Amino acid sequence: MGTPRPGGEGLPGPRRGEACGVAGFSVGGEVSPLLYYALRAIQHRGQESAGIAVFDGNRARIHRGMGLVHEIFSPATLKGLQGSSGIAHVRYSTTGLSKIEYAQPIVLHTLYGDLAVSHNGEIVNAAELREELQLKGLAFSTDLDSEVIVRLIAYELSRHRNVVEALKAAMRRLRGSYALAVLFGDRVFCIRDPLGIKPLALGRVEGGWGFASESVSFDITSGEFVRDVMPGEIVEVTPEEAITHHVGGEDVPAHCMFEYVYFARADSVIDGRCVYDVRRNIGRILAREAPVEADVVIPVPDSGRAHALGYSTESGIPLAEGIMKNRYVERTFILPEQGERVESIRIKLNPVRSVIDGKRVILVDDSIVRGNTMRKIVRMLKRAGAKEVHVRIGCPPIIAPCYLGIDMKTRDQFIASGRTVDEIGRAIEADSLAYISIDGLVRAIGMPAEHLCLGCLTGVYPVKIRGEKYRYQLTLDSYQTSSQVPP
Ligand code: SF4
Repeated sequence: MGTPRPGGEGLPGPRRGEACGVAGFSVGGEVSPLLYYALRAIQHRGQESAGIAVFDGNRARIHRGMGLVHEIFSPATLKGLQGSSGIAHVRYSTTGLSKIEYAQPIVLHTLYGDLAVSHNGEIVNAAELREELQLKGLAFSTDLDSEVIVRLIAYELSRHRNVVEALKAAMRRLRGSYALAVLFGDRVFCIRDPLGIKPLALGRVEGGWGFASESVSFDITSGEFVRDVMPGEIVEVTPEEAITHHVGGEDVPAHCMFEYVYFARADSVIDGRCVYDVRRNIGRILAREAPVEADVVIPVPDSGRAHALGYSTESGIPLAEGIMKNRYVERTFILPEQGERVESIRIKLNPVRSVIDGKRVILVDDSIVRGNTMRKIVRMLKRAGAKEVHVRIGCPPIIAPCYLGIDMKTRDQFIASGRTVDEIGRAIEADSLAYISIDGLVRAIGMPAEHLCLGCLTGVYPVKIRGEKYRYQLTLDSYQTSSQVPP
């Protein structure tokens, strides 16, 4: 793969999931090469499928496929996407199956012009909206919440006959997380949900303006990242300018803490914070909160690198790359007849014995979800001669599902659910285990806790979700179901 997948407990196999990535540009020249490179920069956000839609002067042209961006697009396919405005998408399925019909952008041919939409996030009232639209006679071809968004916008377009009014009307109905790229005729818009849960960066490129899920898309296209799209903002990009049509953010945002801990590229800047700096801060704070006597700090590659550097700097214990990662095994499998001889973890990660043998090791990673992989890594280090393995984790225990776009859906999949830290430490066979505290994480990110979504850490969510606690509600009993919430 072009960009190594971050985190993910460092291994292939069942995945915890990634958010998707979106991009859109309006430029003086050809837009598809820019979109291609913008997608390459955010490939880590989704590797199942990718697509680009451009307006060719007459209608929307689209090319989508399964796999990585460079596998799907060639010079010939990009040449077939001629036009100066367009949007793009990389997908990891948080809802819906993994097949080509579910690749985005989704295109509809409306009476008023072609409409294409790419979506990163998850809509929590998608089922209600789908039913409402079906009762009005609309049909759906997938179970994607993203299809609900595009059909809702098309429906509002038929009512308002004005795309900006249609987008505003759709925003008023959608609940959940969304960073949207919208192509309507030759016009390109982006929208960030009112809580700013998912990141969205706005910038200049040669001959125009654009946006992408992460600021790194502007680095790769020799552009300039200008600012984050504000929560609740609708921005239209043209070759000359970026026009804000609407700002409808809630008073208190809820940026996803997991973007900083795990998802985003370390070289991205999100909501004014460099992700790499945040991860190093996490490591420093973790070293203060959970010190231990040891000889060497070792990151789980690539996910624990910046966290480990911070831990090493703060503790004064030297950092060493004690685990090497094979970068070319994302889609690997073990031959059935080799099953007993091949250790699945060693396909991807291998210890450097000279760094580990006889040492007391501090092993640092970004997060633990199920814990299976961490146990394998601890065992691997012990077999390589580690005297002790102390595990330090840069994300507090994940105890609750994410309903806002990350594929962590059931409580029983989390090793931290219903277990103490000591019990988890024993389960992963570590000599000691410590997580950064929620307070420490919030300080490392450097924004008030109320401005972050911490739902999977606390079980308290910034969006009303049936059966879960909402952030302004004092007890679960006072919960209103989403269908009772006024539109
Ligand atoms: S629940 Fe967790 S992973 Fe999901 S949006 Fe909130 S912080 Fe991010």
